[in-house]
Amino acid sequence: MMPSERTPPGTVFLVGAGPGAPDLVTVRGLNTLRRADVVVYDALVHPELIGHAPADAERVYVGKRGYCVGSTLQETIHEVMANRARAGLTVVRLKGGDPCVFGRGGEEAEYLAERGIPVEIVPGVTTAVGACAAAGIPLTHRDATQSVTLVTGHFDPDSPDCTLDWAALARVGTLVVYMGLRHLDAIAARLIGNELAADTPAAVVCRGTLPDQMVIDSPLSLLPAAARAAGAAAPAVVVIGEVVAHRARMLSLASAASEGALA
Ligand code: SAH
Repeated sequence: MMPSERTPPGTVFLVGAGPGAPDLVTVRGLNTLRRADVVVYDALVHPELIGHAPADAERVYVGKRGYCVGSTLQETIHEVMANRARAGLTVVRLKGGDPCVFGRGGEEAEYLAERGIPVEIVPGVTTAVGACAAAGIPLTHRDATQSVTLVTGHFDPDSPDCTLDWAALARVGTLVVYMGLRHLDAIAARLIGNELAADTPAAVVCRGTLPDQMVIDSPLSLLPAAARAAGAAAPAVVVIGEVVAHRARMLSLASAASEGALA
């Protein structure tokens, strides 16, 4: 539901901004943003997208990087949204990708709902989907795998905060790791230690869908060094699995098709 005359005053919309490029937001997300009284947005939201909010809308930057920073900031975000909503304003909480994929959308929706504040979720294209499409990697492929798994690599695999089951992840087909660059050495080692083949095709996609997107692809065992050598930096996702091998083929077919179109 978009904000309209029928929207109760003081609704908070948790809107997915998409994976990077500002035109990858949904139509509903854009229409919602255009009716915002207040926009509360993250670091990964493209400035051009925020430009679609009404000129007189209040803009509140609550940027932070990383999935699990101290709760103080998160508490502030909750309060900002709740205060504005209680004043009867339409609040758009704009988050990179999809609000509920490693985006704390669930937490924020629960906080608001528990306080009787109306909340609507407007889904977005999550990074795994957007960045892989832009990099020419099919997340599934009939010849390669029947499954995709999304995980956060935020936690050091050697710390007790990391609850991932590496033995299971070594067998899941396509694996996409968000926030996985910092611990990429340990992640690759864990997977290979659990019998995922060292030469499994893998890639790092940095700044996916943006003009300066960078893709580094390499067998898994060599990926951490290749990413370092290429100067890979956040935001980035790591994609591991046979589907990555389809990249070269997809890209060469796509360029042949566009040359054909130009001829
Ligand atoms: N809710 C978001 C994820 C937020 S967590 C979503 O659905 O996509 C932040 C992480 O997302 C980053 O550390 C990175 O791993 C990934 N990410 C976000 N934007 C990205 C981009 N343009 N390219 C590559 N990875 C990106």
